[in-house]
Amino acid sequence: MRPLVEVFSKIVEKIKGVDYIDEQTLSEISRELQRSLLKADVPLDLVKSFSESAIKRIREERPPPGIPLKDFLVYVIYQELVKLLGGEAEPDLRLPKRPYVVMLLGVEGSGKTTTAAKIALFYMKRGTRVGLIETDTIRPAAYDQLKQLSEKIGAQFYGEREGKDAVEIARRGLERLKGADLIIIDTAGRHRNEEALLREVKAIYEAVKPDEVVLVVDATVGRQAAAQAEAFMKYVPIHSVAITKMDSTARGGGALAAIAKTGARVKFIGVGEGIDEIEPFSPRKFAARVLGMGDLEALVERIKAVLEEEEVLEEMESGRMDLLTFKKQIDALLKLGPLSKVLELLPGTLASKINEEQIELSQKNLKKWRAILSSMTVEELKDPSILNASRIRRIALGAGVTPKDVKDMLRVYESMRKMTKMLRRQYRLGARNMRIQ
Ligand code: GDP
Ligand code: MG
Repeated sequence: MRPLVEVFSKIVEKIKGVDYIDEQTLSEISRELQRSLLKADVPLDLVKSFSESAIKRIREERPPPGIPLKDFLVYVIYQELVKLLGGEAEPDLRLPKRPYVVMLLGVEGSGKTTTAAKIALFYMKRGTRVGLIETDTIRPAAYDQLKQLSEKIGAQFYGEREGKDAVEIARRGLERLKGADLIIIDTAGRHRNEEALLREVKAIYEAVKPDEVVLVVDATVGRQAAAQAEAFMKYVPIHSVAITKMDSTARGGGALAAIAKTGARVKFIGVGEGIDEIEPFSPRKFAARVLGMGDLEALVERIKAVLEEEEVLEEMESGRMDLLTFKKQIDALLKLGPLSKVLELLPGTLASKINEEQIELSQKNLKKWRAILSSMTVEELKDPSILNASRIRRIALGAGVTPKDVKDMLRVYESMRKMTKMLRRQYRLGARNMRIQ
């Protein structure tokens, strides 16, 4: 990981020195972004679209109120990086059936055998019973390698030292290990152009019908990872990818981006020679780490909350103020923290009009209101005029409050609706003032 962190530390350093944005700063950021990505061996077309998209956002978007420009720039780059690495989704590590059969494939030396043992240990630590099968009959040392690793971690093992037929070994192994929760089949590797080997992989696949086929790719191949994946995909479906040796090269960044572009999902990364040096791959955590921002998640949450609030204001502006908007606004307010803090963002004249007592009251009410709004149907939220006495009784019951509470909230909502236009204008003014730093 260190090599990639080093590559990106330059851009982070550059951004930390930015106090305002002009064309020169923008082009410096753009150049530094491209340089970093190229060093990580990210494919050229992706480098181009990444920096174009990031620069466009930096040019068009402004930091939300209260967020310093530097933080906002890192946030934009973080988000674009997450997109480049495959999106927001977290890896799915569940084993939906038992035994769950996984087959590893990849070229010689990519780290298949090591990764088989690493994945085994990863699941064993979570209480899974794991069996490992070695089907590599081409390298005689492969049998001993996986057998020893299995003994080290205490996993069950099946292999045949003098075995000739990989398909038969896989079949017998499955039969022998069928009591396990997870069975991992390791295969031989050699060069991907060797038809015979790819045919063997296909034969094992068809005989065994594994639940998941994992392609193992060495990070040092960088952007070539895509070509490797595509070559294998011609023979067998690839369900997920493990990228090894992320600890030893910055080119792993390119491998990750190239794999994401093929549509395959990277599920694990190998981050060292040690048998426990494997991690589920989360684009979000990875991007945060690469940018050296341990506290990035907190910043992201803060920005998202502020942006949500902005979105609500925009909805009000367009006249779409209904209870749904009201609910979103309450959620945003609760996320932003104490209401008095939020009011500090408003221009002084307006803030002073709202007295302390009212703030106290609203703060306590927010949670109650959220409960009330949560027990309404979407239909009711969109059109509060349909709320008759029996609906109000049902809602109150669902929220654990009295019908009077519901009516009180509706009254506040009504007066809020009337006030929004004025509030919005003032808030916008305040927000704009805060941005000019
Ligand atoms: P196979 O031929 O695909 O089965 O590859 P092996 O599992 O035998 O691994 C080849 C070499 O890569 C071995 O020396 C491993 O120790 C090394 N290796 C595997 N994964 C990693 C990793 O994540 N980091 C580092 N630094 N080395 C690794
Ligand atoms: Mg091997």
